Amino acid sequence: MVEAQFEILGTFDKCRVCGSKRRLMDELVKEQAEEGEIPDNTNPCLQMISAVAANPVTLATALIGATFPTGVAIVDACLDCGTLYAVSLLKGSMKTTAQMPQQGMPGFPPAGGMRRAS
Ligand SMILES: [Zn+2]
Repeated sequence: MVEAQFEILGTFDKCRVCGSKRRLMDELVKEQAEEGEIPDNTNPCLQMISAVAANPVTLATALIGATFPTGVAIVDACLDCGTLYAVSLLKGSMKTTAQMPQQGMPGFPPAGGMRRAS
């Protein structure tokens, strides 16, 4: 287990290339929400990219309980031009425990960070 806490640094509600607000995963959720299959307050993403700001040797030799800064990008795809872009950027920290996660698997951002802004 890894203890993680994250703070939202920024959210981006439109494509930086074409300005469209239509996103692949967002549209899929809207369709399901309209059919009543899922709540409409979810904010799904295509991919969550994360990294711990420490080199692998430091991580591998860290004492249990050591804390490292961690960055996370929530990524989705523009439905109009196909650009992949960050919908949310988060920063946080993770505390090492008996078993460190692989890079790219930081756990989950806080529930409040995953709600649709609109
Ligand atoms: Zn676009």
